[in-house]
Amino acid sequence: MLEVKGLRKVYEGAGRQVEALRDLTFRVAEGELVCVVGPSGCGKTTLLKCVAGLLRPTEGAVTLGGSAVAGPRPGLAVVFQEYGRSLFPWMRVAENIELPLRQRKSMPRAARRERVADALEAVGLGDAARAYPWELSGGMQQRVAIARALAYEPEVLLMDEPFAAVDAQTRADLEDLVRGLWRQRGMTVLFVTHDIDEAVYLGERVLVLSSSPTVVREEVAVELPQLRDQLTTRADERFVGLRSRVLGLIRDGATGSGRTDRRPGV
Ligand code: ADP
Ligand code: MG
Repeated sequence: MLEVKGLRKVYEGAGRQVEALRDLTFRVAEGELVCVVGPSGCGKTTLLKCVAGLLRPTEGAVTLGGSAVAGPRPGLAVVFQEYGRSLFPWMRVAENIELPLRQRKSMPRAARRERVADALEAVGLGDAARAYPWELSGGMQQRVAIARALAYEPEVLLMDEPFAAVDAQTRADLEDLVRGLWRQRGMTVLFVTHDIDEAVYLGERVLVLSSSPTVVREEVAVELPQLRDQLTTRADERFVGLRSRVLGLIRDGATGSGRTDRRPGV
């Protein structure tokens, strides 16, 4: 479905170069939920922007369903961290969600409205259609952003630390919402976070990034039951084991020792 090959990104500034990504290669299969985890500043947002076609890579390529991603294109939707800046304050919730659908000229108005209502229902905001974004809490605004992405029915849903700015309880609810939607709808999701617990809790597979020079340090398969629960899953010894393994990989990467000891303690 989604393939990232030899991706490198160097930002060229005024007499300064920042190599945000060194060499990333991975694939996401149709219907998979893959998390990318790495420390702040390691290039996660850069990666998602390249995947979404919002940023041109210095080297390497991104392909979606076999065709190269050369610019913003239908088929991809992104949910960003800053919910406050991602919704238009002068538009009601339903209008915000409908906006990307209006680009699809072939879609009749009634069908658009139905999609919007369905997406709002799916994120538990069936009664907020006529509210303005600023009348809602942060967590609710992020639900609206998720609903907008759902209504669009993207081939791949890209999420960039979408819950980093909400409180812990809301975050747990939103994590369960994403997993639930993924299971029900069979979506393909690439979810980026700096939070190791979140990556292991959500993902079926976790790609661990090193800090710069940024490469995929390791891919960790998350062998946990499909049906997860904030209390029991997080207490499960397999969860705890996976979590310490990913933490170990990130720590190693941060010291730059380049050690490759695998599966400590297993
Ligand atoms: P993350 O999302 O993992 O925190 P980013 O992708 O935002 O990391 O940033 C990776 C690196 O690239 C950082 O060192 C950051 O300062 C740099 N960077 C990000 N955007 C730009 C830009 N537009 N111009 C120059 N450097 C940038
Ligand atoms: Mg970021």
